Amino acid sequence: MRIKLLPSSYDVEGRILPVQRLTSYVLDDLLAVDAGSLALGLNAFQREHVRDIVITHSHIDHIATLPILIDELFVSLKAPLRIHATAAVIELLETHIFNNKAYPRFSELSNSHGAVMRYCPLVLGLPVRIAHFQITAVEVNHPVPTVGLIISDENSTVVFGSDSAQTSEVWALANQSPNLKAVLVEASYPNELEVLAQRSGHLTPASLKAELQKLRAEKVHILAVGLKPSYRETIIRELGELGDMRISVMDPGREYVF
Ligand SMILES: [Zn+2]
Repeated sequence: MRIKLLPSSYDVEGRILPVQRLTSYVLDDLLAVDAGSLALGLNAFQREHVRDIVITHSHIDHIATLPILIDELFVSLKAPLRIHATAAVIELLETHIFNNKAYPRFSELSNSHGAVMRYCPLVLGLPVRIAHFQITAVEVNHPVPTVGLIISDENSTVVFGSDSAQTSEVWALANQSPNLKAVLVEASYPNELEVLAQRSGHLTPASLKAELQKLRAEKVHILAVGLKPSYRETIIRELGELGDMRISVMDPGREYVF
């Protein structure tokens, strides 16, 4: 499984910076998880082939460029973009984003080939097949309806934790996955902002350490994501101080193969 965290920060010459402001991943050039920087970070091949997009929750940093991407592809789509999300997330998207005020209700619009966008509801805990992946969505602990994802192909399983404070089911499912290779888990705030992290449904390095006690696998890559840009250096230092060799900070723009 090839996974790329799409870049979301660039210097004035257009070079990719490691700072992560938005969240979106591309798997094997054809499946997207979240759409924070999807319209900005896809290459030409991916732009033509990514037609399934899983949305974990409705926060702007995870969906910001979804309307922009659909708008851009509108005329050229020969089949609808498939948006996979729970019913609760679909309702939030329809109410607050695709409401004909913030942006058009693309689910009701067509081009000369037919519909341009179709919702594919995810049911919590029920594995679905999307392309060559098996995907299970489980509820996590965040102020809005949010899912973590367990994604497997024939060789590997990777957990996408999305945004979440302390949670349990996603770890239980990770422990049941024989081919678990990597866990993408957030570390949003530094330890001194633990109260803010709790209130906003996020983790610090210290609370991440406690979460990792729930994970049995020892030979697994723990990729920290979602580090708030203002605290990035502190969070990286505090992650290093955990002394857990499995942990590294996920690098935007780099392709990871599991
Ligand atoms: Zn969030």
